[in-house]
Amino acid sequence: KAVGVVVTCEFPHATPADFTAHHYKRSNYKALAPQIAYQNLDVLFGGGNGILTSDIKKHFENKGTTLISDDRLALLNYSGPGKVWALFGEKALPYNIDRNPDKVPSIAEMTEKAIELLSKKENGFFLMVEGSQVDWAAHANDAATMIDEYLAFDEAVGKAIEFAKADGNTAVVIISDHGNSGFSIGSSRCGGYDRLSLEDLFRTVSGYKLSNNGLESILIDTPPAQFKSVFKKYTGIDLTNEELETLLSSKNYNEPDYTKVGTSNNLAHNIGKILNERTCFGFTTGGHTGEEVLLAVYHPQGDVPRGNMRNTDVNRYLQEVSGLESSLQELSDRIFAKHPEVFKGMSYSINRENPDFPVLMVKKGGTRMEIPAFSSVGRKNGKPFDIGSVVVYIDKNDTFYLPVSLREMF
Ligand SMILES: [Zn+2]
Repeated sequence: KAVGVVVTCEFPHATPADFTAHHYKRSNYKALAPQIAYQNLDVLFGGGNGILTSDIKKHFENKGTTLISDDRLALLNYSGPGKVWALFGEKALPYNIDRNPDKVPSIAEMTEKAIELLSKKENGFFLMVEGSQVDWAAHANDAATMIDEYLAFDEAVGKAIEFAKADGNTAVVIISDHGNSGFSIGSSRCGGYDRLSLEDLFRTVSGYKLSNNGLESILIDTPPAQFKSVFKKYTGIDLTNEELETLLSSKNYNEPDYTKVGTSNNLAHNIGKILNERTCFGFTTGGHTGEEVLLAVYHPQGDVPRGNMRNTDVNRYLQEVSGLESSLQELSDRIFAKHPEVFKGMSYSINRENPDFPVLMVKKGGTRMEIPAFSSVGRKNGKPFDIGSVVVYIDKNDTFYLPVSLREMF
């Protein structure tokens, strides 16, 4: 099947990497990014221009993979038959609420384009779409942005369902990987909220035009005398003098870690506090939470899972609707093994000239093979060949994980 990934985070972030690479440390982009690139995915749309290495770009050239950088129209007009990556921004895309719609595509636009390209492939496709920043806005306790990110994702879901219904042979599974922030409509701060109308509950938050971070980046360059008017312009809120002082005192502290924006004493956090105090919303934490999450499934023949499920059951369902010949675990056990097993009885060594990218060197008779970590291109007697899968290397046990079939190349 053809395979695609659409995200709004940088491409080696947790969820896209989870679907396309292996490593024990999620922040090790050095190990994750090349694996994702060497997977030869049919489609990848998301963020992370700044993470591309010259080696990855060279591989795209060799493979004929089209790379679109910061060019929304080039993406929307693309209709080629080949593999295509489109990246926006150095790292993640902006929040949808802060997005310039002429320059940066929406997640719905990226999803629609991905489906258009993948659905032309003969044997069907698997597409993973992540509304990556619902979670980030929740970490930041940024209600307006969280709601807006969810609505943007919902629009992308609409594109998928629209296609699946017309196609008649496609299932759509919508799930969140975990709860976050203990968000509630209703707060002890806000007496009588249970008698408010929907309109009353959402009026204030509907007036917020930017994320806390988006407003922060504007306020950082705003002279103190104009703080109140600028704040009102983007939120509809008249700041009290006390609130103004809080903002000015935190003005220069810009929290770079998105998981800490909601809790540390930075400008974005203090903006969020002021905005939240004007609503009847509550948050219990700036971290992940353990409640059950929504699972929604569309299946053309109505074969949908129901009731309370474990995440592993959802994985089993995905394997089933993907039409795998046997389980992922069985396939993995059959296809891959550790290098001492694959090359048993042959002479091999590990070249660590480049400590981040060791190379497995194997020799038998007159045949020499070089297998670089995190790549799918090996060399046999100096000539490049397609390994057919990305080779995973784990430094902790100094082991390469690779296709058993490599043994037959000797
Ligand atoms: Zn998170």
